[in-house]
Amino acid sequence: MNLFEFEPGREGFYGEYGGAYIPEILWRTFTELTTAFRKAKSDPGFWREYLNLTQTYSGRPTPVTCLKNISKMLNGAQIFTKREDLNQTGAHKINNVLGQGLLTARLGKNRVIAETGAGQHGVATATMAARFGFECVIYMGEEDVRRQRPNVFWMEQLGARVVPVTAGSRTLKDAINEALRDWATYFETTHYVLGTACGAHPFPEMVAWFQSIIGQEARQQMLNLTGQLPDAIYACVGGGSNALGIFQGFLCDPVKLVGVEAGGKGLHTGQHAARLAGKDGSPGVAQGYKSYFLQNMEGQMRTTHSIAAGLDYIGVSPILSHLSEKKVVQFEAADDEMAIKAAQLLMKYEGIIPALESAHAFAAAFKAAAKMRNDQIILVNLSGRGDKDIFNFAEALHDDKWIEFLKEKVKSYES
Ligand SMILES: *Cc1c(COP(=O)(O)O)cnc(C)c1O
Repeated sequence: MNLFEFEPGREGFYGEYGGAYIPEILWRTFTELTTAFRKAKSDPGFWREYLNLTQTYSGRPTPVTCLKNISKMLNGAQIFTKREDLNQTGAHKINNVLGQGLLTARLGKNRVIAETGAGQHGVATATMAARFGFECVIYMGEEDVRRQRPNVFWMEQLGARVVPVTAGSRTLKDAINEALRDWATYFETTHYVLGTACGAHPFPEMVAWFQSIIGQEARQQMLNLTGQLPDAIYACVGGGSNALGIFQGFLCDPVKLVGVEAGGKGLHTGQHAARLAGKDGSPGVAQGYKSYFLQNMEGQMRTTHSIAAGLDYIGVSPILSHLSEKKVVQFEAADDEMAIKAAQLLMKYEGIIPALESAHAFAAAFKAAAKMRNDQIILVNLSGRGDKDIFNFAEALHDDKWIEFLKEKVKSYES
């Protein structure tokens, strides 16, 4: 199945979803970007350069690990995991950012901007900018700057300027608006590095393309390790980039693909970020694209909740909305508590500290594996490592001593 075969005149749409709903002032910039991206995509030299960079700088190919101990405990399917946590900066986000860095250089630009909520995408972008020698500005809601001190510290050490955004609710969506305003002013020299497979065309296609390296590697690795394709693949879904990354390797195979969203405090509580699993999401247009959103009847965006900051978002990739409607990908939700439990199993029995985002995928995969046969195989995308989640883990496990200690430590970052 080729996701990116467009109907004439409908470039950037996946069925009904996607598109580019952008202010007129940004049209030229988007056209320029789309042209450069098309050229790069059809140039094998560009992909070779990309591969070389990810291999020499970010440790690709990342390995696949068999979860021997947990598989034995569950006595069901054999569980394997693709180790995106072993990338430079600790998650899959660097794949996309390095690709966009190469494209920025091809565009002849020397300044990059990005928005960040939890700070992970900001750190990845600042890392890339340092390596490429670009000027870098990161927009971040004032509230998030306060909550994510360690990440702000590292972005600044990496040479980026972090701009706290004081408008609105002082969180991610206000930071996005501010970044777009910057882009509209300085587009001649500046590229906007979007962090996930959302936003206006060509971003969903472009981010998904850079992340497809995960699935390309994983398919070959699974064949080498097990002599067969997995029966099912699980990945967590925030904006959708790591999930699309691994799924793309298997779209032509008879493999069950499962996207796992944040069930938060439970789908019945309204405090979650399940746009495609459950019944709360509905189609709409926001932030430049058409997709499923968590919104009220008037189209106002609702507040979302997840213990994992990277999954806590109102929208989802238009490509996944399409694949959901076509029943190519199934969606489930795992709640905060299940994610913590899955992470504890991985730490204690496999020596792996997963990001809380990734732990959602494992929670759903463990549940499924227990009901499967020993000769069946599940592959889970481990999108990132959990060091960044130390506060949330301590809080969820009610480790008050640690919470106090960590708060003191973070204060010392501020002085
Ligand atoms: C940002 C992030 C996610 C969510 O983003 P996607 O675009 O849905 O992949 C998931 N896992 C980790 C570790 C992240 O940092």
